[in-house]
Amino acid sequence: MSDVQRALVLAKPDAVRRHLVGRIIARYEAKGLDVIALELRRVSVTLASQHYAEHVERPFYQSLIDFITSGPLVAMVIEGEHAIEAVRAINGATDGVKAAPGTLRGDFCVSNQQNLVHASDSPASAAREIALWFPDLR
Ligand code: ADP
Ligand code: MG
Repeated sequence: MSDVQRALVLAKPDAVRRHLVGRIIARYEAKGLDVIALELRRVSVTLASQHYAEHVERPFYQSLIDFITSGPLVAMVIEGEHAIEAVRAINGATDGVKAAPGTLRGDFCVSNQQNLVHASDSPASAAREIALWFPDLR
C-alpha cells in the first residue's frame, strides 16, 4: 500500500569529518528517495538533549551528547515511499561491526557510537524530530 513518509536523518559529525556525507546522501537518492530539507549545522547541547531524550538513562548518554556536539553535522529530511523503513534499511544495524555489508554502517564504520547516521524509527519519532530540527518545514 502506498505510504509516503518523511524521516529525519543526521549525517553525524564522524560522517562530516570522514568526508562521507556525499556518499551517504547518494545512497538515499539512488534508492529513489527525495531530500526535501538539508542543513549543515553545529548542534547545541540543548538540541542534542532534546533529540536524544529517550536515551537519557542509558550509560552511554553523556558520551553520545559529547559526540553529536563534537562538530558540524548535516541534518536532512528524506521523503518517499515507506521512507522510515527504507532509510533505516540503508543505514544498517546500530553497531557497525554487526551491520550487514551493503549498508552504510556495515560498509563504512566499526563503531557502535560513531556510526555515521541517525534516522527516525517510527512515524511518531519522525514527526517529533522533524519539528525539532526543521520547525519551518511544511
Ligand atoms: P539507532 O541510531 O540505530 O536508532 P539507538 O537509538 O539504539 O540506535 O541509539 C542511538 C545512538 O546512540 C546510536 O546511533 C549510537 O550512536 C549510540 N549508541 C547506541 N548504543 C550505544 C552503546 N552501547 N554505546 C555507545 N553508544 C551507543
Ligand atoms: Mg534510535
